[in-house]
Amino acid sequence: MIVMENHFHKDLMQRKIAVIGAGPTTLYFLCTLLEKNVFPKSIVIFEKHAEPGKGTPFRNENANPNLLSNLKESEIPKLNISFSTWIRDVYDKDKVSSTLNAFISDADDSNSSRNQVIPRGVLGEYLSFCFKRVVQCLKEAGSDVAVQIRTGVKSVIIENQQFTVETDKGRYSGFHRVVVNMGSDLCSKDKLDDALWAYPPRQYTREDKGEFIIDGMSLTAIDAALSIARAKGQFNHTESGLEYQSNHNFKILMRSRTGVFPKVWYNSDVVADYIKRLDANCAIDVSNVESFYRHKLLPLFKQSMPKIYQQIKEMSFAECLTFLNQRTGQVHPILKLKAELLSLADESRQSDWPAVIAAGINHIQQSPLLLNDFLAHHQDIKSQLSASFASIPLESANRIIALYDNGVLNFEKAEGETAADNGNSDAIRIDAKGVIECEDKLAKLKGLLVFSGADNKKKSLTDVDKWSVAENHELILNGKPTHIYVGSAFATPWYINIPGLETCANFGKQIAQQFAQDDVYEEAVGE
Ligand SMILES: Cc1cc2nc3c(=O)[nH]c(=O)nc-3n(C[C@H](O)[C@H](O)[C@H](O)COP(=O)(O)OP(=O)(O)OC[C@H]3O[C@@H](n4cnc5c(N)ncnc54)[C@H](O)[C@@H]3O)c2cc1C
Repeated sequence: MIVMENHFHKDLMQRKIAVIGAGPTTLYFLCTLLEKNVFPKSIVIFEKHAEPGKGTPFRNENANPNLLSNLKESEIPKLNISFSTWIRDVYDKDKVSSTLNAFISDADDSNSSRNQVIPRGVLGEYLSFCFKRVVQCLKEAGSDVAVQIRTGVKSVIIENQQFTVETDKGRYSGFHRVVVNMGSDLCSKDKLDDALWAYPPRQYTREDKGEFIIDGMSLTAIDAALSIARAKGQFNHTESGLEYQSNHNFKILMRSRTGVFPKVWYNSDVVADYIKRLDANCAIDVSNVESFYRHKLLPLFKQSMPKIYQQIKEMSFAECLTFLNQRTGQVHPILKLKAELLSLADESRQSDWPAVIAAGINHIQQSPLLLNDFLAHHQDIKSQLSASFASIPLESANRIIALYDNGVLNFEKAEGETAADNGNSDAIRIDAKGVIECEDKLAKLKGLLVFSGADNKKKSLTDVDKWSVAENHELILNGKPTHIYVGSAFATPWYINIPGLETCANFGKQIAQQFAQDDVYEEAVGE
């Protein structure tokens, strides 16, 4: 393949591209097109909500003022304006709401703000600003960019190497490529009966019922609990610590199979440090996940966390994850949170273990040999891995403790019960089990695609048809490229890491770079 970058891509100038979803992945995709001087004739971006650039977690309805991201400023992959420059500009122009201003004043006052995680609403405003800016720049460079907001895509019709996008507002045709950046909408969500989704929280925070039952105790569930608390009272810093006060009479019950919360936030700089140490340790060659664990991960535990090492040294990788996640232990969730808050201040690095696991998964993702072994033999440990990665920001952990101390919040280790079973048929029940991946990660995407034959008849796909996503993110059907690109980690079978903004940046960049390369190649071979 001929690869030429940073020049004018003549062929692409003739092309029309459809992009489904205007979340962070699309933002990074557009920024890379601009950076690489790739200016398609036309780009139409379809977004079913009203706030392009923000995506699912950062749009207003899902980003109540007290909900936090897990990102510090330094962890936002580079965009077309730095976060600190943006925050100064926005602050000067006084464009944002009082909540955002409160955060911005804090940020102005102290350098330590660089170390604090950013509220999701603030991050959303930033992403939205960057989005508008890149669209404007692409337009100025000659691309005809249209952002169709409040326009949900229902199907993509494939006919003679061209695509028609069918939306709830009408049909758009003549596209040469489609980029599917629909985020977690591409994974399965089997809603529980008689329960509300955790997002958007306003569905239930305004309810004046006395009891809320939240199914789940992970990050989504914590969002739900803190949203209810915020709507009905306030957190105050007092001499004895953070306290919660409310004039409402209500209770929140959180319950899950494990009955415990994820770990309190760990510093991502620590992960980067372990990644470096793993990369540097290339003395032993490993060809499968189990030997990688034994010969590369265990030595890191031995060096940095000898006490933990002594407990896990005879275990398999799966057993070690189960042990570390304390899934089998009988720990009170608040005691566990408090112990973790204490151990963050402990210099013995015993709380580093999630960082070692995160570094390990990053390593497996990068190594084709290990990745193949993982996909073939270790898919069953994915939920344990997700549990290892999930981490609660410090501030949220303190708020959960304050709610418990106030008597508002309680917990239950339970599975599969209904609200009625619990004797609380009047309670508001919230399904906060979070994103649940399909066994077939491509199932939803396949459902979106319609193949139309020359006679205008729909071609039906069968189980015999083989689907995959290539390394360059192109959807492959029966060994043939489709010109459909998949930018969602939830629909990428080979992606085993937990998606975050870093993933959006990588996927968006890789697809845009592929567009640049493909076009030069097609020009050369005369497609
Ligand atoms: C509750 C929650 C909190 C999170 N917090 C963090 C965090 O703190 N830090 C972090 O790095 N990551 C976080 N994530 C992960 C996060 O999802 C990604 O970082 C990022 O939002 C993914 O971007 P995306 O563009 O791939 O997908 P999304 O953000 O999901 O964006 C997809 C977009 O596609 C649109 N769309 C979907 N279907 C259609 C359709 N049929 N037609 C038209 N438009 C459509 C959606 O409306 C959405 O705007 C969180 C995820 C969740 C669910």
